[in-house]
Amino acid sequence: MQCPECSTANPEVARFCYRCGHALKRADASKHGRNNSYVVQSSEGVNQLALISTIMPHTNRETADNYRWAMITSALLIVGATALGILSIAIASAAFLIPIAYLVYIYDVNLWEDAPVPVVLGLFAATGVLATLVSLVFFRWVFDSEFSTFVAGSGTRGGFGTLSVTALLIFAVLLPIVAEIVKNLFGCLLARRPEFDDMIDGLTFGVAAGTAYAAFETIVVFWSVFTSSEFRTTAGLSSWVVVIVNLMVVKSLIYGTASGIAVGAFSGKGEGYDGFTPHYVANFAFAAGANVVYWLGVRLFAYAPFGQVLGLLWGLLILGILVIRVRVSLQHALLEAAVEDAVRDHHTFRETGTETFCPECGNMLLPGSLFCIACGTSVRSTSHQARRDIRSTSGGGAA
Ligand SMILES: [Zn+2]
Ligand SMILES: [Zn+2]
Repeated sequence: MQCPECSTANPEVARFCYRCGHALKRADASKHGRNNSYVVQSSEGVNQLALISTIMPHTNRETADNYRWAMITSALLIVGATALGILSIAIASAAFLIPIAYLVYIYDVNLWEDAPVPVVLGLFAATGVLATLVSLVFFRWVFDSEFSTFVAGSGTRGGFGTLSVTALLIFAVLLPIVAEIVKNLFGCLLARRPEFDDMIDGLTFGVAAGTAYAAFETIVVFWSVFTSSEFRTTAGLSSWVVVIVNLMVVKSLIYGTASGIAVGAFSGKGEGYDGFTPHYVANFAFAAGANVVYWLGVRLFAYAPFGQVLGLLWGLLILGILVIRVRVSLQHALLEAAVEDAVRDHHTFRETGTETFCPECGNMLLPGSLFCIACGTSVRSTSHQARRDIRSTSGGGAA
């Protein structure tokens, strides 16, 4: 059967073109050529609100479950520590929950065999140092009096009348834009290197830098909790739970996904990086804009009754939009790059070498595959580890 999209000859049983991922059977197709099945994990839809397969595209169904449970367990521990009033421990672990899970993921899937851990730790540390400096400038050294107006007016104490527009502009508009530049800086520098030029690499760097920034910002903003003489707090614990979940965990994911979108656009689809194109500028603006909208909401809701809870719901809404946006961009980038390669008959080093098996569904992959013909999962999104494992057993397994 010839693929209508890229003219590659496919076996009759193929449900998806092995070169471009196009749906070959009517049941899998929509009028856009491929149904809603997510190329990174074909059992999920593109528009599904699934976090792990979005920010950790190199996991497969099985490993994704481990991360899901690890995150749920740590989240419960954080809420537990908060309920006991041990805020310093709750805040420190909440700040570093997502970035550490992400570092473990990068190490675990062995993304870049030659230079894995030092590169990511370097990105993490460099972004962390700049994040600390920017946060100190904004929250302590220069705009500390503006920042204190939020604390004074929050809750039902002052109401909207006490809102300082200057403070709002500094902390909900200027700071998110400056922060987005810092979050993009080192990720884009790395994405220029030929071994990290895939869009998934750019996305990964963006998420790593964004979550690192969030962690160090959290530590600076809540520093007084660590220097406080009382180890346990008893007052206002229920609002602390909401604050910790929103301003540490949800914030971390918003920063990460937004920067992932921007740095991913810097990498662009296919091999080689795109650099400072209008596409990157648009995605950078989208990322910075999402942060601005998040902070405007959080700061303004703080003046309303149940402000913390409204702020948390607002954060979850923004995060949902960002997650869908990442999935749609990954879907387009992986499919479009593959169609272009297939039409030009260009072979990349990311396709399968010998006969291997799909890590998602176990079906045998054809040599030179970029997609599984049975489930349509992109080979690019499988980890190097999984690819090497299947390759090493393929000699006997394929026979
Ligand atoms: Zn095709
Ligand atoms: Zn498959």
